Amino acid sequence: MAILPIITGADTPVLRTKTADVPQVTKEIKKLIADMEDTVKKAQGAGIAGPQVGESLRLCLALIGKKMTPLINPYITWKSEETCVIEEGCLSLPGTTWRHIERPSEIVLKYIDLKGKAQERKLTGYDARVVQHEVDHLDGVLIVDYADIQQFDKL
Ligand code: ZN
Repeated sequence: MAILPIITGADTPVLRTKTADVPQVTKEIKKLIADMEDTVKKAQGAGIAGPQVGESLRLCLALIGKKMTPLINPYITWKSEETCVIEEGCLSLPGTTWRHIERPSEIVLKYIDLKGKAQERKLTGYDARVVQHEVDHLDGVLIVDYADIQQFDKL
């Protein structure tokens, strides 16, 4: 078990860089994912992405159906037109208040699992939300890049 330091800051380069695909699910990748799982559980987060532990690799863990699920080379291949607003926080932005963010309600996700097998899943609700947040991290996108919908309510 290893807890990794979580990289923070909206302007930190590794958090703003698009990640590279994982070429192969090696022992090293499995060890990194196991350490990331320990780290996200300790931090009581709903997910964690490679850049958040300083690894610019296209991999993350996300809480799907209440299970912390490793996603290797995840890509969202479909997004619903229907959207919803859900409050989000981020382990890499500890000083930032939670934001009410509008995103598609449903997605289709393609990824590789720990056994190196290709998977495809349709996700809705909270599952779809967590995955969209984590996949954003893999593209260098953070929640501060989105409008806080509450602000519009106050206009
Ligand atoms: Zn985050």
